[in-house]
Amino acid sequence: MTIFEESKKYIPGGVNSPVRAFGSVGGDPVVIKGAKGSKVFDENGKEYIDYVCSWGPMITGHADPDIINVVKHAADLGTSFGAPTKAELDIAKKICEMVPSVEMVRIVSSGTEALMSAIRLARAYAKRDKIMKFEGCYHGHSDALLVKAGSGALTFNQPSSPGVPADFAKHTLVAQYNDIESVKTLLSENKGEVACILVEPVAGNMGLVLPSDSFLADLRKVCDDEGIVLLFDEVITGFRLAAGGAQEYFGVTPDITTMGKIIGGGLPVGAFGGKREIMQMMSPEGPVYQAGTLSGNPLATAAGLAMLDKLSQPNFYKDLKTKADVLFDGMADNCKKLGLSYAYNRVESLSCIFFKEGTVTSFSDAMKSDTAMYAKYFHAMLDRGITLAPAQFEAMFVSSAHTDDDIEKTIKAHYESLKEIQ
Ligand SMILES: *Cc1c(COP(=O)(O)O)cnc(C)c1O
Repeated sequence: MTIFEESKKYIPGGVNSPVRAFGSVGGDPVVIKGAKGSKVFDENGKEYIDYVCSWGPMITGHADPDIINVVKHAADLGTSFGAPTKAELDIAKKICEMVPSVEMVRIVSSGTEALMSAIRLARAYAKRDKIMKFEGCYHGHSDALLVKAGSGALTFNQPSSPGVPADFAKHTLVAQYNDIESVKTLLSENKGEVACILVEPVAGNMGLVLPSDSFLADLRKVCDDEGIVLLFDEVITGFRLAAGGAQEYFGVTPDITTMGKIIGGGLPVGAFGGKREIMQMMSPEGPVYQAGTLSGNPLATAAGLAMLDKLSQPNFYKDLKTKADVLFDGMADNCKKLGLSYAYNRVESLSCIFFKEGTVTSFSDAMKSDTAMYAKYFHAMLDRGITLAPAQFEAMFVSSAHTDDDIEKTIKAHYESLKEIQ
């Protein structure tokens, strides 16, 4: 029996997060033994050039010695105290320095937790119950956020998982990404009732969909006009598009920011932060309750701080983009050479190829993509030693550890794969 087959006996689906299963591409997941730099290797010793990068966190590559060494050092001093530490001050200060809108921050252990707590805070601050999200944006798996649009996106929505009471989901309104009119319509139907609009400033969970020129600024304006808290979910974009995340990159400032993934350097960390006036409402300074036994864990904060220090180096993002551009240009060229006009979205070190002609600027565009074709592409790349996310609606992540040789091999494998699957 393989490791994965045996895992299925003890763990639902054999995985501790459903995205790791090969549900939408078929076959069994590769069981990873370890990783170094741009590569992961499986239990049989087979090596792959990895563009999953743990779904985003490993922006400096796997087992980065600068991070591993501080984690080892921190471990020698103990793995958890349940009391304040200097490392928590250091990482909080660092986040406030890096992220333009963040004046105070609370550290938690996952993106889901950050969003769940940030929503509670936004509701308490605005003294309203309803929140608005966009179809196809993912904000973790807490009840109120596990809501997608039903057939009528402009009405109250159905929970997208059994176990979420309709009574919880009904406070979540669902608008269309890149469609400010859908936001305005919902707001006029729910005048004075919406506490918070939350958005992935670049949508990274319906494939990769970039905001149109005015979308984020329009959201800012609507929120200002209506006394609504604007929440940027920067769990993917934070420390990815720029040192200050999407808010620095696009020059639009949210009231609350949620962070995760990269912020922990591969250890479990999430965070939410924002204007002092809002953050001071958090317990014990204010009345909004939130807590965590392992929040600000010493290993996690050490890893996170080492990561943020690296990302603060001058030219980190410039160099990463240069690398990503070679790869993404090469992939775009491959499509041209083969006469394929698939939609190809990219920004900085993120990209996504959609198996659909034309452009993808909305959730409904993304949904028109041929997922069976993606599955073939995925396996063709995997056969050539390249790991991509095992689903169409995810991004491809480039890290600073990818070498020129990796990129050259990837472009070649991409050409052969596209050719093979036509
Ligand atoms: C991954 C993700 C989350 C959830 O973070 P977890 O650490 O997996 O709980 C939330 N928002 C966005 C945009 C994400 O990509």
